[in-house]
Order: sequence, then structure tokens, then C-alpha cells
Amino acid sequence: MSMKGFESEQALVERIRRMAAPVRGSGVVLGIGDDCAMFRQRGASEDLLFTTDLLVEDVHFQAETHRAGDVGWKALARGLSDIAAMGGEPRFCLVSLAVAKWAGKAWVDGFYRGLLRLAERARVTLAGGDLAQGEKLTCDIVVCGSAPRGEALRRDGARKGDLIYVSGRLGGSALGLERGKGTAWRRHLRPEPRLALGRFLREVVGASAAMDLSDGVSLDLRRLCLASNLAAEIRMPPVFPGATGQQALHGGEDYELLFTVAPGRRVPRAFEGIPLTEIGVMRIGPPGSVLLEGELLEPLGYDHFRGKSKGSNVRMKS
Ligand SMILES: [Mg+2]
Repeated sequence: MSMKGFESEQALVERIRRMAAPVRGSGVVLGIGDDCAMFRQRGASEDLLFTTDLLVEDVHFQAETHRAGDVGWKALARGLSDIAAMGGEPRFCLVSLAVAKWAGKAWVDGFYRGLLRLAERARVTLAGGDLAQGEKLTCDIVVCGSAPRGEALRRDGARKGDLIYVSGRLGGSALGLERGKGTAWRRHLRPEPRLALGRFLREVVGASAAMDLSDGVSLDLRRLCLASNLAAEIRMPPVFPGATGQQALHGGEDYELLFTVAPGRRVPRAFEGIPLTEIGVMRIGPPGSVLLEGELLEPLGYDHFRGKSKGSNVRMKS
């Protein structure tokens, strides 16, 4: 879907951010522009993290190819991935669902079963929500998490000279969407939010910045660079078996973590079987610019307001 009159999702977010001046004394210590907003109660030892995500029929999933349980799983996985990106612990979620005419009782039950299966695994309580009928099936989820005061990982913490890492192998979700079967398809349907890894990066590694890869590393790394007011130089990240380099760079929905680490800090080669690969370094340069093997990497990842990801067969974004 593309919308007239907007340069990009980033530009639109920036316009809204300028309109929405923070209210003094609200306790919001991190507002629009990161994976989660952060709320700090006076004297509290923890910061609360909040994220919200939409999942829309024919934009993020299709009724014919995505089963109810998979849609429910993914709705929550997207929010949990944002909590993971901040190194947080998920606490509870709120789920609102507009049910389309085609979706009957069995579909709605299946949706909540899929969602609650992941909620149980991640130890997240479903604490409320809203129900309505709608033209297209639409889900909005809010996840609340927590992190020790002042210690959540943010996008704006990278410093020049910090090394850039990614977890896992990229492009699996885009490949799965293209194939519609196999391990890549299962990865696309049921992504695993990297919650334990996010906490490890905060507690043990001491990462300087982090975010989750939802729209493709080309676009997401640009966002991290913009937040940190730096540029980046990278080489090709590890590619999911069978995926193309374009899918790895620009395909969305991998839900791996992108993070930076000050030189000299120890990063293991893998965490719980997930490879952690150094792909480059943060540099002084035009903010947001990313060089891949010395060439400017265009941010062709998924942008809702520009239309589909150009470098791959990603038709939808979640
Ligand atoms: Mg995110």
C-alpha cells in the first residue's frame, strides 16, 4: 500500500513527533522514535517499556495463506521483539481485534490460542483489550515490559568506532513468503522474538545500542544510525540458507537483533545456538548513511508509505 503525499514512514513519524510535544512531568523518559516508549515512576527501580503494533489483513497477512493461530502468534511476536530490542522483560499485553465477516468463532479461538501459546512461553499475561467488527481483520497489540532503571538498550546509544553485530541469518522470512513452504515459511509464520538474547546483550555484553530487524537491515540500520547521529560501514550480513543477498539486506520480518558494542567488549560467536556476527563499524559521516563493501546501501527495506520492499519478493510486512 502506498499513500500519497508522504515521503516515507520515517518522515511521517518525524512530522507527528514534532506535533506531539511531550508533557512535562509525564514520566515519559523516551518518546517517539525507538522500539519502545519508556515510562519512569519517581523512585522506581525499573523503567516500564511500551510498544504497540498493528496487524492488518492483506497488509501483514492473508486469510487464505495464514492460519488463525499463526496470525495470533505473530501479532504478539512483533511486540515481544520490540521488548527484546530494549533488553527488557515482557510483563503483560493488551490485544484489540476487529473481526471481519469471514472470520467465525473458530478463527477467533484459533487466533487467541496461537497468541496465548507464545504468551505462555514468554511468561506474558493477556490483561485486556477490545473487540469490534471491521471490514478487514485488524489486530492491535500493546506489550508492556520492564528493564532496570536507565539500563534499557536504545537506538541512540551507538558511538563512533562501535562494532555492529546482527543475530541469526537474514532473509529467511522474505524467502519463506516467496516459497510458501519449508523451514523459511515456518520462520515467516512463527518468528521467535529474541528475548533472552536481548537481556544477555544488556546484562552481560553491555551493548551500546540495539533494535530489532523488522523492515530489513538496510532500512533498520539507517534508523539506528540516524538515532545515533552517525554513519555505518558494513559487509554482507549472514544470509539465511536459500535466500538471496537482496532478501537478506532488504527483506523484512526477520525479527533478529541489530546491536552495537564498544570495541574491546567480548561478544560470543553465538548465544543459545543463534550466531552473533560482526558486520561492520559505526563511523562519523552523513547521519543515516550506510556503506556496504564501500558502496552506498540504499534503504530499500519495507516502508508502508512507499510500498513494498524493492529488493525482494516481500509482498507484505508484519
Ligand atoms: Mg522494532
